[in-house]
Formats: sequence, C-alpha cells, structure tokens
Amino acid sequence: MGQATSSAVLQAVTAVTGAPGSADPLATMGKNMFDDKVMAEKLPAAVVKRFQECLISGAPTTEDDQKIIADAMFEWARERGAVDFSHWFFPLRGQGGAVGGMLGAFKQDTLLDLDFGSKYVTKPMKACLPAERLFQGETDGSSFPNGGLRVTHSAAAFTTWDRSSPPFVINKTLYIPCAFITHFGKCIDEKTPLLRSMDAVKSQGLRMLKAVGLGKDAQTMHSYLGWEQEFFVMDAALYKARPDLVNTGRTLFGKLPTRHQQGDLNYFQAIPTSVQNLLDNVQAAMLLVGCPMAVKHNEVAPGQHEMSPVFRVANVSCDSNVFFMETMNREAEKLGLQVLFHEKPFAGINGSGKHANWSVGTDTGINFFYPGKTDEGRKLYVSGIACLAYGLSQYNELVRCTVATAGNDHRLGAQEAPPAIISLYPGQGFEQFVDAVIAGADLLGYKAEKKHQQTGCTQAMFIEANVEDRNRTAPFPFCGNRFEFRAVGSSQNCCLPVMVCNAIMAAGMGHLAGLIEGGMSHRDAVAKMFKENKHVIFTGNGYSPEWKEEAAKRGLPNLNTTPKAVVTWSSDKNKKLFDDLKIYTKEETEARQEVMLENYINCLTIEAQTMINMVETGFVPACAKDLKKCENMSSKFSEPRKTAYEAIVDELEKLKACMDAMPHGDLEKEATYLCDKVKVQMGSLREAVDKAETMMESSLYPYPTYEQMIYSH
Ligand code: ADP
Ligand code: MG
Repeated sequence: MGQATSSAVLQAVTAVTGAPGSADPLATMGKNMFDDKVMAEKLPAAVVKRFQECLISGAPTTEDDQKIIADAMFEWARERGAVDFSHWFFPLRGQGGAVGGMLGAFKQDTLLDLDFGSKYVTKPMKACLPAERLFQGETDGSSFPNGGLRVTHSAAAFTTWDRSSPPFVINKTLYIPCAFITHFGKCIDEKTPLLRSMDAVKSQGLRMLKAVGLGKDAQTMHSYLGWEQEFFVMDAALYKARPDLVNTGRTLFGKLPTRHQQGDLNYFQAIPTSVQNLLDNVQAAMLLVGCPMAVKHNEVAPGQHEMSPVFRVANVSCDSNVFFMETMNREAEKLGLQVLFHEKPFAGINGSGKHANWSVGTDTGINFFYPGKTDEGRKLYVSGIACLAYGLSQYNELVRCTVATAGNDHRLGAQEAPPAIISLYPGQGFEQFVDAVIAGADLLGYKAEKKHQQTGCTQAMFIEANVEDRNRTAPFPFCGNRFEFRAVGSSQNCCLPVMVCNAIMAAGMGHLAGLIEGGMSHRDAVAKMFKENKHVIFTGNGYSPEWKEEAAKRGLPNLNTTPKAVVTWSSDKNKKLFDDLKIYTKEETEARQEVMLENYINCLTIEAQTMINMVETGFVPACAKDLKKCENMSSKFSEPRKTAYEAIVDELEKLKACMDAMPHGDLEKEATYLCDKVKVQMGSLREAVDKAETMMESSLYPYPTYEQMIYSH
C-alpha cells in the first residue's frame, strides 16, 4: 500500500475514533478489513489458493502458509495503526448482556514479542504477529458460562480463528473473529455451532442437489444473513439516574406520557440531529471495517431507531452485528448518549427486535428462496420451501427456543411482534400452489411474475409489485428472495437463531434427498413433504385471537414464555438432529439448555431485586414526603394518596416474601417459579408505583420520568 493511501486510511481511523465527518466513509469502505481482495494483493497467489481451498475442504492451513499469512496481516495491520491484536469471540452470555446487548469478548494482546532469533542474551523486543498467535489463543475460560461443560479445575479454553471471517483493525486493535472451545473440543460459544450448521447446510444441500439432479456445478452451499437492528437512544445522564436501566436494561417502573406512539408519528420521521451524528459515526466505523451499512431510520416508538447492513454470509454478518452493537455503545458514549438494546425498555410502547433476513444458496448463485427465472431455479425454489416447511413443522419448538429470552417475553405476541407460535408464510399464491402440488400438479406450475400496479396519476409511473404481499404478523414471512425471521430479539446474538434456521433447513434437505435416494420421484417427494407439513403454513393474520385457536387445532405449540419454551430444547428428537448434523453432541445440547435457563433466572432475579431496592430507597421515601405535604389538608387530598402509597408497601412485602419462597437447586423449577409467581408480583408492584406517579407532586418523583427519557433528544 502506498504512503498516500495509508495516511488516508489513518485519517479515516481518526474520523471514527475522534472528530466525526473528517473523511468520506464511502471512500474508505472496507479499507480496514483483511478480506479476499487484500489477501490477493498481499500474498502469493498459491498461498491464497490453498487458503481458499482449505475453507471449502476444512483442511488445516499448513505451518508455512500460516507464517506467510500472519506476516502479511501484521504488516497490513501496522499500516492501519494497530498496536494490539485481539481474539474476539462470543461467550454464552445471553440476556445477562442485555444491558448493553449481546456483546463480544476480547482481551488485548500486544503486537510485541521477544526476538528469539537475536544473538543477544537479553533478547530485544520485536513487533510481530507470530503465526501461532493469529490462528490460536488459549485462555482461562472458567468464568464464562458453559452449562457444566467445564469445571473450574479444568478451565482451559481455546480461541481459534474463524478463517472465513476477515480480521479487521479499529481503535488500534487487530480484531480476529474466533470460535471458542474447551480443552476437550466442546463448544461454549455462539459461533462454533453456527459454523457447524453452515457445514450441515453444505453437506445436506449438496446431497439434495445430487438427488434432484440440479445445480450440478455447485461446489458448496452458503447461508446468508441480513439483520435489521432496532434500538432506543437516550440521554446518558438520564440513563445513569435510573437504577433499573443500569441494572436490567429496561425500566421496571414508569407511566407513559400522554403523547407516546399514537399515530406512529415517529416512524420514518426526520432523525434528530444528535442521533443522526451518532448513526453517521457508527456507519463510518462500520464501513471502514467492511460492513456495508445500508439503512438508517426512525422507528415507531419515540426515541426508537433502526439500522441494517447489506446481507453477507451468515457468520460474517453475525460478527458484524455484534461489532455494530459494540460500536454503537462506544460512539454513543463519546456523544453523551446511551443506546438501549433491550427488547422492551419502556412498557406500553413498541419494543425492539432484530429481524433476521436469511437465505441459503449455492456458490454458483442459485438462491433456494428466490422464485427463479429458469426451470432449474423454479424447481429448487419449490423444493427449498418444502424443505423449510418440513424443518419448521418437525422442529417447531426448537425454532421457538432460539428467541426465548426474558426480554423477548415482553414482545412476542403483544401485537408488535409475531406470536410465540411458529408458522411459515410463503405467500397466499404459494399456499394455493402447495395444495395443487399435493393434488398432483407439476413443480413448475408456480408463476412468480411481478405485477404492475397503476398509480392512477400521470406523473408517477406504475409500480412493479412482488408476486407475494408482505405479512408483518408472521414469524417467518417470505420477502421476495429470503425469509425474514421476525421474532429475534434486539439484544440477541443472531448466531443461535440462524444456526437453528440452518439446522432445520439441512434436516429438510436431507429428508428430501433421502426420499429420492429411496426411489421416490422429485415431484412426489416434494408433494409428500408439503402434505405432511402443511399445517405449519399460515397466511392469515398472526396477531388475531382466532389464529391461537386455529394453531391449537393444528397441533402447533404456543410456548408463550421462556421457561415453557426452553424446557423443550433438549428433547431426544432435537438431540438426535444436532448429533446427526454434527452441530452439537448430546452433551452440548443439554449444556445449552442449562445456559438458557441460567440466563433467564439471572435476569429475573436481578430485575426483582432492583425493583425492591428502588421501591425501598426511592419510591417509599418519595411517597412519605408527598404524604407529609397533605397532613394539614382535607382527607380528600390525603386519603386517596395514603391508600395508593400503602398499596406500594403491601405489594413490596408480597414481592419480598415471594422471593424468599423461591425454590433452589433445580433450574427448571426456579425459572418456572420466577415466571409464574415472581414476575406476576413484579407486575402488581409496578402497577401500584405507576398509580402513585399519577398523584405525586412531580418534583418528588425520584427518577427521570418516561416523558423525560423518551423525549430526551
Ligand atoms: P425491510 O424492508 O424489511 O425493513 P430492510 O431493507 O430494512 O428491509 O432490510 C432487509 C435486509 O435483508 C437487508 O439487510 C438486506 O441486505 C437483507 N437481504 C436482502 N436479500 C437477502 C438475501 N437473499 N438473504 C439474506 N438477506 C437478504
Ligand atoms: Mg426495516
């Protein structure tokens, strides 16, 4: 890289770490990402070729090549001002991280080492990145959640570079995206199972292509993800004055201002200047490390916004989402702002989700979820949806589990997000086609032509509408060239939901291949899969009460709380699926369930304790002060207040007693108790406090109010 360009890059680094807007983010796009293009420039062609082949075959990179790659990466990273490097990975922190979003873990290691090649006895220091440090790291991992897969006396855990996710430099650190496993090769992170599921998509996908005799040139299969991240932005000082936000990521008390989201006025409104600055800085930082941010806009609730990138291969996209959340936090801090990634920071207005737009396809460009213009494309599209319908119906609970968190329980089924019932929306036209295939029709019968709609005026031209309408009430709607898993929560790491999408799709593709390998025709096999799984297809209104009844008739589960969902995770059927696809051993599946329950218990316990603290040290003293003011007034003033304030104390005592009676020693029982008993009592306490807020002199309210927080910029 020439001197001029390298200083431009450094300037861009300054732009995102210091003064905003001093460089054009589009001009520095991808400059700090060590991708295929950089590799082609910096490395001998033979090394690049071997490296790429290993990514398809899974073979290790040879020691010689490791050294050549590490040296080149070192030089490249130094040109971008890197002083440290970091193995960056995703421990199973779950919603515990909801306070700041599901973030990555890393420690910074110096790019210095002793020069063992030197002749001096006191070996001098030398800046370098030894190959073994790039490819592998060891750490004491005993403080990371592991679901019993690692005990403290056998604490070693290892990070290993996910070679298909490009390292990048930001804030003087070379980030190396990694998988994280124990001394015995058990995965204790979000990333490893995702990578294994991508392998399963490849093996079952290629097997299916062979069985149906299509896509013959394909060497491998990929899964893709494009996330849409929703979040709230508020004033950092107000955030810090709310113990509930600081401790739990959401407000546990507070009444809505008179004007909140009636009329959805905030949706697509102009972005306030302070937030616009934040989003611009984040966009620049993300572009620099190669994540093409595509969209930013205001969301429905006041104070709520969204950003999303152009989709990428699933693992790279999951990485970029975590990095996005980290970057948001970092850049917000510089501007005195606070980002809320929790699924439901404020009761009564919309919460935040993270739609996971997902597709699978071949390296030759065939997308299984694009209706296709050729006969081959059309047949694969119809087959792809049959595989997905099979996966969603056979492993329905599994899909539900991937979005089961304490935070998401406030959203799912609350008319702002899909219900907890998992169904498939392939479009109404496609649903009719499914019936036709079951009745014997040919697989090529689905017509996916776009439709012209007239605007009715001369000035604006006709529009070209997609063959199928959108359905916002479905958890899994078709969106023209992908499916959108809409139930994912905003604070979640996308790895688990996408891993399970891949797994159920791989199961479907394996099943279709198996039927054909057993002698059935392609058409009949697809028809059979549609017939046996049609009950998962639903194209009506998912928010309607009738759907709940209808789903029950169809035998689709409605696991409407996290504990109810999570206990289905380790069923024999699910363990077998993961084991067959080499995604999780049976032990790893069980460990993951344990971690999910632990996360839920932690979340609810911290919430309940925070409530108790806030009532005792904030609300009760405020009520007492307010009541004192009424002392010499008529009982018309004092009585309603006294009654309302005493109710708070009663409900507080009930919550304390409820916590004291909590069972211990059995995670399932603890989680269920917290959900069925503690959470209900938390609701009653909140109601009492929020009622008091309507009577109390406003200057006595001990914390920033909803009105102050959601309209803080
Ligand atoms: P919406 O209109 O649903 O709000 P957005 O434009 O905000 O959609 O986001 C759609 C996301 O889907 C983007 O990240 C986009 O890159 C991604 N996407 C588009 N096509 C695909 C595909 N084939 N596979 C996966 N993701 C895709
Ligand atoms: Mg969107």
